[in-house]
Amino acid sequence: KTPKPFNEPNLHYTPSSPERQKLIVALSELRTKIPLQVPSIKNGVEAETKSNAEVYFPSDNSSVFAKYATANEEDISSAIEAALKAKQAWQDTPFTDRAAIFLRAAELVSKKYRFELMAATMLGQGKNAWQAEIDAAAELADFYRFNVSYAEEIYSRQPTLNEKGQSGRTDWRPLEGFVYAISPFNFTAIGGNLISGPLLLGNVVVWKPSPYNVYASYLVYKILLEAGLPPNVLQFVNGDAEAITKVALSHRELSAINFTGSSDVFRGLYGKIADGVKEKKYRDFPRLVAETSGKNFHLVHPTADISNAVKHTIRASFEYAGQKCSACSRIYIPQSKADQFFSEIKAELSNVKVGPPEDFESFTGPVINQAAFTKISKAIDAANQDGQLELIVGGHHDSTKGFYIEPTIYNARTLDHPLFDQELFGPVLVAYVYPDAEFDALLETIDKQGGGFALTGAIFANDPAAIRKAENRLRYAAGNFYTNCKTTGAVIGQQSFGGARSSGTNDKAGSANMLMRFTAPRTLKEEY
Ligand code: GLU
Repeated sequence: KTPKPFNEPNLHYTPSSPERQKLIVALSELRTKIPLQVPSIKNGVEAETKSNAEVYFPSDNSSVFAKYATANEEDISSAIEAALKAKQAWQDTPFTDRAAIFLRAAELVSKKYRFELMAATMLGQGKNAWQAEIDAAAELADFYRFNVSYAEEIYSRQPTLNEKGQSGRTDWRPLEGFVYAISPFNFTAIGGNLISGPLLLGNVVVWKPSPYNVYASYLVYKILLEAGLPPNVLQFVNGDAEAITKVALSHRELSAINFTGSSDVFRGLYGKIADGVKEKKYRDFPRLVAETSGKNFHLVHPTADISNAVKHTIRASFEYAGQKCSACSRIYIPQSKADQFFSEIKAELSNVKVGPPEDFESFTGPVINQAAFTKISKAIDAANQDGQLELIVGGHHDSTKGFYIEPTIYNARTLDHPLFDQELFGPVLVAYVYPDAEFDALLETIDKQGGGFALTGAIFANDPAAIRKAENRLRYAAGNFYTNCKTTGAVIGQQSFGGARSSGTNDKAGSANMLMRFTAPRTLKEEY
């Protein structure tokens, strides 16, 4: 039996706390190594290849944060072959030994590398200390500890009955080939989840992290090796996404994709896999597991505690500059409470600091890169000119130093404004003020809009009947639906996370369901 999992206790970084001092030291140590180098890795050994691609600081767009070595086609193919070669020994390793590696890694994250991981996540991804704490420290360790228990839960699923004279069991085999994991920039922990689930079950994984968190991901990789992961069962591959994907998707042994990122990218992958399946390229039908985009909503009922709704909306929409898949980007407010809601949110936001991630006063920071900045600021410029939208707060952007976008709220005069469907992945919230009496009709609209996504949603209400009604009518509008709290911040072991419709395959990060997708169960029966 493995130990009972627990959530990593959070540290709070208050002004004179020891953790703040340690984090400050880690930040300055990391700064002395700028630009950070991410080499290519072969057989677990760092190769001498030159780093030939670079990424900038989100908070300082003229300075290179990290340089990384890109893999060419041959490197990618040999990474896949090396993983496949390492597979037999890994799947023959007893589960408790595999689990021990991840439990050790969780301890290393918690005790030895916490501040370094956080510093990398703060400087490279533009997260403030608290956002880095809940991601690169807590959630990463949580994923390792809880995935161990989910894997154990799967292995314990055995036939309900064994008639006399017969013995039956389920052999939870890993998939036969390799798993291709593609992780996003916005959470260091997500990479840790996408690789640890399949690995724990005895799979081998080829991992391509986002270039925009390449350094934090490199730390995640190195910590796993230090914890005892055999070098070749996990291949850490960087470079051009299309080139890597092309090689991975042409391989006969591709058995699954574990993806978190945008719906459009996943759609492309799905299509290519479908073509490959038609051409009988693969031995199996590859498993496709994805958590993708959202256009998540807050619904405020006339009975809601408005100050609570305001507080949660500010956090859901503007923490980490709105760059969580779970961020709230549309809100529906009852007419009777609209003035109060808008005046409170304006007042609260006037005290919010947007600034560099390492400034402990910053509530939120820059967006990740030039492409994100351009996309969001163009949408803001258009919205500022749009007669159907009233600017409530924000509306400015500035990339003189970093990619900064002010928390921005528009009140739409019409419910069919395109902003209710368009995912910007930035700090932009669109509101609609509805007549109190039209709550029921509004539920139908909320379900229909949101760009076809169904990731997270929340209702703020103090009327149990309204809450039940929303839960029923919005049954498919969100994979995670919360009452009186924000759409962001699912905690591993407490709220499994993921959406359906265009938000993914709903396999739920932080649950045995997701891990189950990386098994090929075999039913065994023996008669005597
Ligand atoms: N699990 C995170 C949350 O609940 C969001 C993950 C994501 O952005 O993909 O806020």
